[in-house]
Amino acid sequence: MADGAEGAGGAVKGELTGGCLCGAVRYTLSAGFRLNPYACHCTDCQSRTGSACSEHMLFTLADLEITGELDTGEYDQPSGGHSTIYGCAKCKARIYAFNNGREGMGSLRCGTLDNSADLEIQHHIWVRSKQPWIGLAADAKIMDEQPRSTEEWVAFVGIAS
Ligand SMILES: [Zn+2]
Ligand SMILES: [Zn+2]
Repeated sequence: MADGAEGAGGAVKGELTGGCLCGAVRYTLSAGFRLNPYACHCTDCQSRTGSACSEHMLFTLADLEITGELDTGEYDQPSGGHSTIYGCAKCKARIYAFNNGREGMGSLRCGTLDNSADLEIQHHIWVRSKQPWIGLAADAKIMDEQPRSTEEWVAFVGIAS
C-alpha cells in the first residue's frame, strides 16, 4: 500500500478505545483528524520504553476523552521541544504524550489501543538506530531520522481519517 488511509489496514479509523495495563485508565478517541501510526526506533524511545521501539500515532487532543488517575513525566527533546508524557498513576503504563512544538496534537502509544493487534505498521522512523534483530517488510516506508514539521509528518505517514 503506497500511503494514506489504507496504511494501517483501516484499524485506526473512526472511534477507538483503549486503556492501561491495570484497567484504571480508559480512553475513547472519537473520530477525527489523525495520522497513520508509525514505529520509532530512536534511542530515546528505546530508553523510555525499555524496549526496542515505540509505536505512536499523532491525533487531535480534543478528540481524547480519558478517565482514571494520570501521572506525568517530563522530557526535553533533543529537537528543543518539551514533551509531557501521560500514563496511569497505578500501573505506570504510558498512554500518550504532548509535545509543545505540536499544538493541539497528542502522540498516542498505540499498544494501549484495544485493537492494537489489528494495526499494520508500515512507517518506521529513526531506522538508523533500529536494533538489528528487527526485520522490516521490503515495502516498509523508512526514514533514517524523522519528519520535522507537521507538513512533513503528513507527507510521510499520511492522514488516517
Ligand atoms: Zn493502570
Ligand atoms: Zn523515538
